Amino acid sequence: MTQLSSPPQLDGWTHVYSGKVRDLYVPADGSDAHLLVVASNRVSAFDHVLEPPIPGKGALLTTLSNWWFSRIDVPNHLAGEGSGAPAVPAEVADRAMLTRRLEMYPIECVVRGALTGSGFAEYQRTGAVCGIELPAGLEDGDLLETPIYTPAYKAPLGEHDENITYERSAELVGEEVAAALRDASLRIFTAARDLAAERGVVLADTKFEFGRDPRAEAGDAAGALVLADEVLTSDSSRYWDASAYFDAALPRADRLASFDKQIVRDWLAANWDKQGEPPALPDEIVAQTYARYAELHARLTGE
Ligand code: ATP
Ligand code: MG
Repeated sequence: MTQLSSPPQLDGWTHVYSGKVRDLYVPADGSDAHLLVVASNRVSAFDHVLEPPIPGKGALLTTLSNWWFSRIDVPNHLAGEGSGAPAVPAEVADRAMLTRRLEMYPIECVVRGALTGSGFAEYQRTGAVCGIELPAGLEDGDLLETPIYTPAYKAPLGEHDENITYERSAELVGEEVAAALRDASLRIFTAARDLAAERGVVLADTKFEFGRDPRAEAGDAAGALVLADEVLTSDSSRYWDASAYFDAALPRADRLASFDKQIVRDWLAANWDKQGEPPALPDEIVAQTYARYAELHARLTGE
């Protein structure tokens, strides 16, 4: 895997972890109630972080997450500036989320409104996804009659996430939490899908993560299920342009061109044999990728 350039040092915060795209910080004073999630401009594809970064990407994804959070009627992890946390440093203000630090449930709550990607691959092998039997004859990208909940076990660092059945998720987190994760995920997905559809965008699938607030009172239902991480961004979701998707005359690949790193993936597929380090992205690919992220943001939010 590509070596990450070191994340910025931030006043009042200690860097604790970097994923492929985001950098996490905790308060330098040792308190554990907050977490600062900073979206970098890094872009990853085929499990590699690519060079160069996409200027403006972190800010766009952060704004989009915040926009969705404000429209979802489930308690979320965003913490106000008055919550006792250190101030958010100005240099990352447009791409940082100040959050309550939660105990995360080890489940990636995936909801699929369409069958594609790893879900389609599993269906081709078994006729089912995460134990949910689907009708025969579905093709890549077909919309499902109703959205399905297809959880994955969030594997410890360095291991691959693994699709699991709902029953297995109940063994991992208990019946009550498993049902709450499923029901909240399906409800949020359905509302988001309908809103996206009004704006000419197909929400094909997405992944939510939830946690539990260890500081909430026992019996406080709102503290037991808190929506965390990023929500409904193009890094955590697959969005398609509705006018292309519903144009039966187009080749399938064009109908299913996603609103994220499709341009990067296509360019890499044509210019790299997937051996060794990927080549640097040319300027025009960087610009086109930014434009694609910006277009989704503008379409959804109308801004
Ligand atoms: P990848 O680069 O493949 O996404 P990753 O998931 O390890 O790897 P990130 O997504 O950048 O990397 O990491 C964010 C981490 O922070 C995730 O493990 C997520 O579950 C966790 N997280 C998100 N919000 C909170 C929160 N409010 N409290 C505690 N942990 C959180
Ligand atoms: Mg992640």
